[in-house]
Amino acid sequence: MKNSINLGKIFGIDLKISITFLFLLLWVALSSLLNGASLGVALTELLFIIALFVLVILHELGHALTAKRFGINTQDITLLPIGGLARLEKMPEDPKQEFLVAIAGPMVNLFIGGLLFLGLLITGFFSQPLSLGLIDQNLWMRLLTANITLFLFNLIPAFPMDGGRVLRSLLSLRMDPVKATSIAANIGKGAALLIGILGFFFNPWLVLTAIFIWVGANSEASAARVQASIKGLQVQDAMMTKFFQVEGKQPLESVLQLSIQTGQHYIPVTSNGHFLGIIQRGDLLNALQRLGNRAPAYAAIGIEPEGLSPTASLKDALPSLQTNRVQPVIEDGQLIGLITLESIQQRMWLDQKMRNSQKSSPGEKADMV
Ligand code: ZN
Repeated sequence: MKNSINLGKIFGIDLKISITFLFLLLWVALSSLLNGASLGVALTELLFIIALFVLVILHELGHALTAKRFGINTQDITLLPIGGLARLEKMPEDPKQEFLVAIAGPMVNLFIGGLLFLGLLITGFFSQPLSLGLIDQNLWMRLLTANITLFLFNLIPAFPMDGGRVLRSLLSLRMDPVKATSIAANIGKGAALLIGILGFFFNPWLVLTAIFIWVGANSEASAARVQASIKGLQVQDAMMTKFFQVEGKQPLESVLQLSIQTGQHYIPVTSNGHFLGIIQRGDLLNALQRLGNRAPAYAAIGIEPEGLSPTASLKDALPSLQTNRVQPVIEDGQLIGLITLESIQQRMWLDQKMRNSQKSSPGEKADMV
């Protein structure tokens, strides 16, 4: 993630802190000082926020270390002002494993909450007459409340909260994952609506949370649909095979002409049949300004992706398309196709149409094309 500072490694996982989080710390300290608080109170406020985020790190570590038991590594854990984010390489496909990974985070909060509760009980905090002011002054009590809040909030059965994954994994034990995800996403949207209405009357922050949940539910459902529909497909099933390409020595003006005539956004460059790289529209215009019309095509190459094998699975190819948007498909050193997110969408759309038309003709078996 950009704009973050590396704090070091914990259990082999990079721990990062977003710069916006440092602004939050500064804001908390300044606002309590400006409100007339003493330096001591301002420091306690800072300490509270830092302790809160240690709780968040422990929560994320709960997910990461459970995933590790199933052979899934975590790229990094980032602290954001809205909470933590553990970037797991992938979510386990086995619903039981997904359940354990998802529930591990909230369980950490439950455990720490239990310890804090015991500590407060033993020290006699609960045996005095409690008032809101007293609860507000005790750092440990505030941390206990924070833990309970984290626990409950994360168990709301809605994506992108842990509760959404817990629900999906439980449903997946009984039905196919896409259906499970879509039911979980709909329940999430219902929860979002409810939280939004509550927020409208009581707290504007809840409205923001509701929007966050709604968007999360939608994107999770569509990601599950994509995953399911490309299952078993190979790169060659979704690649474009009709496209124009240019020779490395060809002048840029002819590349521009070709780009205008064909409307092609990505133009592969080859030299004697050997693939060199890809020129995107933006790169082409930049190179024309910098180097002029007569410069060779290869000077405008913006991306030099390694390329994919035609028999690679489409599922494995997706991450590389998210960073590069276009990938050449190469067989024996020869460029045989181009694959983009759009070409995959085309293929999915086509499959969907085929399935629908087969559904309407009874007696036929719905085969994948
Ligand atoms: Zn979590």
